[in-house]
Amino acid sequence: MMPFPLTLPHVLERAGRLFREREIVSRMPDRSLHRYRYADFERRARALGGALQRLGLRRGDRVATLMWNHYAHLEAYFAVPCAGGVLHTLNLRLPHDDIAYIANHAADRFLIVDDVLLPLLERIRPHVKFERIIVVPFGGSAPTAGVESGAEDGVENGLENYEALIASSAPVAVPALAEEEPAGMCYTSGTTGRPKGVVYSHRAIVLHSFASALQDILGLSRSDTVCPVVPMFHVNAWGIPFSAIMVGAKLVLPGPHLDGESLLDLFEGEGVTLTAGVPTIWMSILKALEEQPSRWKLPEGLRMVVGGAAAPENMIRAFDRFGLRVVHGWGMTETTPVGTVSTVGPEAGALSEDERYALRARQGVPPPFFEVRAMTGDGEAPWDGRTMGELQVRGPWVAAAYHDAPDDAAKWTDDGWFRTEDVATIDARGYVKITDRIKDLVKSGGEWISSVDLENALMAHPDVAEAAVIAVPDEKWGERPLAVVVRKAG
Ligand code: AMP
Repeated sequence: MMPFPLTLPHVLERAGRLFREREIVSRMPDRSLHRYRYADFERRARALGGALQRLGLRRGDRVATLMWNHYAHLEAYFAVPCAGGVLHTLNLRLPHDDIAYIANHAADRFLIVDDVLLPLLERIRPHVKFERIIVVPFGGSAPTAGVESGAEDGVENGLENYEALIASSAPVAVPALAEEEPAGMCYTSGTTGRPKGVVYSHRAIVLHSFASALQDILGLSRSDTVCPVVPMFHVNAWGIPFSAIMVGAKLVLPGPHLDGESLLDLFEGEGVTLTAGVPTIWMSILKALEEQPSRWKLPEGLRMVVGGAAAPENMIRAFDRFGLRVVHGWGMTETTPVGTVSTVGPEAGALSEDERYALRARQGVPPPFFEVRAMTGDGEAPWDGRTMGELQVRGPWVAAAYHDAPDDAAKWTDDGWFRTEDVATIDARGYVKITDRIKDLVKSGGEWISSVDLENALMAHPDVAEAAVIAVPDEKWGERPLAVVVRKAG
């Protein structure tokens, strides 16, 4: 067979040819809806790639984004890798010094930022050295000069206008990329110490997109209307922008408006058939639905992919009463991220209703080419649904190392598996259930809080002798930290 590389330029080109009329809808900061079609998306992504090359982007250079979920972020998702660069999405919810550390560690050369996030950028800017900062003008405070005359004239205060830049740009000259070349990167704070970078190859993203699209995993097709609520700065919005563009689905991007009512309006208005996010988001949606049960007429069979933290069984049941189907999944930044998804197979017909819910509340089964095992002190745990062990995984979209962090080799076993530091059982049909966590971290609303950092902060207090921070269950946030403190004598 031909040695045809699994790279993103093919995905962009095919989307632009086959799905020209398909819509991409974005909620803007001012709440209005921006609409355009795949044909516009492809043309603008190519122009952005060309502009970055004209600014001096070289093969493998990192281009950071500080953006919400919308069309311009989607353009960067494809423009940067198709120009030979590496898309580095910065998590705007992290502390400022972490964002600065991450941008410096990744050696980001360029930054693309939403104008509404400029106040955040100003806090980071003194500590980082972006060569170019490109601002997407949404009507906030962006430089607007030079729209006709090209990039140089569009520069103001060291900031360039995104629209001016792409208006004057030739299409990207796509290099002959090898599938192992880096396309994206993302940092995780789900480890001890400083955040760690994971670099995604073109091949990993393409294979992950195929696997995600499978009927028994997320089940994505060109007939779907897909709304990733999970931020595009959190593990590439679980890869959904890539997989949705690959299959030609209509995309609906919620921008910064993530409250229950705004999302429900969007789901109803745009006919969303599949959405995805962390449990905290769905809790606010459930609350809105319970308060106004007849306000929204949602598309029949709307599926909600829930991951990043455990989806409680009572939440799955509660949504079923509104005709919304929760699809529970597990993954990590290190796994691009889709690892297991709990869809039920034909054998579920023989199960009682309670057994079916228990199955759906498990984290699910791995797609092809993603292998799981639970390791105890005595070796691999049997797949009996009872024996707990550390969940270890391997596959073509599992990280083999952290970026520029040679001291972290202990996260991989000698026989080549990645240690998740989650504790799990696996049943006879391969359904994984996460039962505990080895890592000393609290997951609050999908984001990590370091118990060690909190303990250190508490123990720095002159009246504190000892402090221990543990995770406690919380209805809204999933988990919150609880500090147990021993006072100094007197
Ligand atoms: P992150 O890299 O920030 O996406 O975090 C990955 C971690 O989130 C996993 O190692 C788990 O500890 C946790 N996690 C993700 N999905 C689930 C889930 N469905 N159930 C329980 N924990 C989860």
